[in-house]
Amino acid sequence: MHELSLCEGVVQILEEQAGIQSYSQVKAVWLEVGILAGVELESLRFSFDAVTRGTLAEGARLEIISVPGRAKCLSCGETVVLNERFSPCPRCGGYPLQVTSGEELRIKELEVE
Ligand SMILES: [Zn+2]
Repeated sequence: MHELSLCEGVVQILEEQAGIQSYSQVKAVWLEVGILAGVELESLRFSFDAVTRGTLAEGARLEIISVPGRAKCLSCGETVVLNERFSPCPRCGGYPLQVTSGEELRIKELEVE
């Protein structure tokens, strides 16, 4: 499961940052998740709970911020909103579209102690 390894990556970052920013517990994590990242949110929450167990982020609240998909159409040159990967350009119906946002998964903010 893809979400499980994403959460493992997040916990790894939290543990690295704990040394740098000197905190010992993470109370909440705001994660930016692009809608084109192919992440199942339910499964992400479930994985987060499982992966953080026994770590400094155990019991932390997970706040998910959805990032809309955007792409530049290489046919008409417009930047368009893209809700599904591999959809044609909503303006001209053309291809290809170069995704400019909506694929990210990153930690936006932390609440720590
Ligand atoms: Zn277009």
